[in-house]
Amino acid sequence: MITIQLTDRQEEIIKIVKELGPIKGDDIADKLGLVRATLRPDLAFLTKTGILDARPRVGYYYSGKGISSLVIEEVKKIKVKEMKAVPAVINVDCSVYDAVVNLFLLDVGSMFIVSEGGLLEGVVSRKDLLKIAMGQMDIHKIPITIVMTRMPNIVTVTMEESLWSAAQKIVDHEIDALPVVRPIKRNGREGLEVMGRVTKTTVTKAFVELGLDKITLKRGGES
Ligand code: ADP
Repeated sequence: MITIQLTDRQEEIIKIVKELGPIKGDDIADKLGLVRATLRPDLAFLTKTGILDARPRVGYYYSGKGISSLVIEEVKKIKVKEMKAVPAVINVDCSVYDAVVNLFLLDVGSMFIVSEGGLLEGVVSRKDLLKIAMGQMDIHKIPITIVMTRMPNIVTVTMEESLWSAAQKIVDHEIDALPVVRPIKRNGREGLEVMGRVTKTTVTKAFVELGLDKITLKRGGES
């Protein structure tokens, strides 16, 4: 877990390096009226967080990355697989009536429609269902395939994609939910298997957990 909160001395060091860098550790210490050893933990922290860069025999220089850009970098490392929820799926043979019942039972706003073997066929939102239910037809007799948005027009995400990219898709396409998928081949047919879902709630939860410092933000090479 990293909490980027700078001490007054660290702020001072950044200021000196910004003005005079590249600058050696001893020279920074001189400017502050301290000995080099005292600064060691601060310099280690500032280079580890990426705020300062250090080159042997050259010294420290400012990386150009402020705190906010470092936080942004970290946020973009949160992956879909860390936050995804279980998918709400219904079978492609369902009627509109079955879909409405499932919407309540599963307590969701949209559902993914899958065929044999879990292949993604479509997505249906609460407004899709509301719209058809307001008509004169018997919703027991209308197949869900008539009202769903179908493949290949479905916006999807993968496990390895960033949650930020998923959130961007939700905003760009003005939708509430994205299926988390992986390509598979079933019965000789290529398609997408539904592994989970990312919704506006998923993104909101991540935002709240970030504020509570609950999400472990990983640095560079760590996994
Ligand atoms: P609502 O219609 O209840 O406001 P959405 O905004 O999620 O819910 O859905 C808007 C439209 O987009 C609906 O017709 C729905 O079928 C479709 N839709 C929902 N999710 C997706 C998705 N992931 N990819 C493509 N279309 C979608």
